[in-house]
Amino acid sequence: MTGLPLLGLHVSPAGGLPKAVERGVERGCESIQIFTQSPRRWAPTNHTDESIAEFREALAASPIQSVVIHALYLSNAATPDPELREKSLTAITHSLRVGDAIGAAGVVLHPGSAKDGHVGEAIERCGDVFQEALAESENCPLLLEDTAGAGGTLGRSFEELAALLEVSGGHERIGFCLDSCHLLASGYDVRTEEALDGVLADADAQFGLDRLRCIHVNDSQTPLGSNRDRHAPLGTGEIGEVGIAAVVSEPRFAGLPVIFEGPGIEGKEPMPADMEIMRRLRDEGRSARGLA
Ligand SMILES: [Zn+2]
Ligand SMILES: [Zn+2]
Repeated sequence: MTGLPLLGLHVSPAGGLPKAVERGVERGCESIQIFTQSPRRWAPTNHTDESIAEFREALAASPIQSVVIHALYLSNAATPDPELREKSLTAITHSLRVGDAIGAAGVVLHPGSAKDGHVGEAIERCGDVFQEALAESENCPLLLEDTAGAGGTLGRSFEELAALLEVSGGHERIGFCLDSCHLLASGYDVRTEEALDGVLADADAQFGLDRLRCIHVNDSQTPLGSNRDRHAPLGTGEIGEVGIAAVVSEPRFAGLPVIFEGPGIEGKEPMPADMEIMRRLRDEGRSARGLA
């Protein structure tokens, strides 16, 4: 795949997995992100073979070129509590297996939280959980997402993401998802093309951009280094139109799902109006780069 980042939205699979494809098509998506179970409940959703086959068929017939799954929010691979660890491992493994079944480009995961504990040990515990989950699934990559850095959340820096890769034995199915809102909040300036360039050079040095498999393009309500995860509608926040245009036109994101999670410009859920903003900003970014 050459050329352009695959712009898309987080869409709901309410009514069944195939519905997510339908919503993505209606909204003009080139890629989609979905939850394959309620993100705030442990109980996994049982997807029938029929529903999975229908999903794959609808996807193949659609212009959507890439699907990623966002894992549930409850898991904490870093926990020292054996019961929570077991539940987290089961949930992450289940998401990876659903990813295998639907042909997802990856499962995006918030790596975990050290709470008040020791960060190094928390990272070690994550590595064990990730390796076990990968061993219990086939092909689907596990994409660790950078965090805004609130509390003890792991993944606030490229050094921490690189450490998570290392404790996972450098597993070939470990990849990364960078979120522009979280980057800004954790102190990485992505507000201009030049600033983004420096951030990507840093990421490349720490874990290698060949491991980058997904981008979350969200604007931020809170400023650089605020360590708060508050998404804003595209172009309306601290990153602004110039920064968002730089992200959605970045040539190194060509072929990657570049997903807007919301809130949308017209309401909480991202809609076609948000896709229009992304396309306009991609065009503006490309012309600023002399690419169009
Ligand atoms: Zn995100
Ligand atoms: Zn976020």
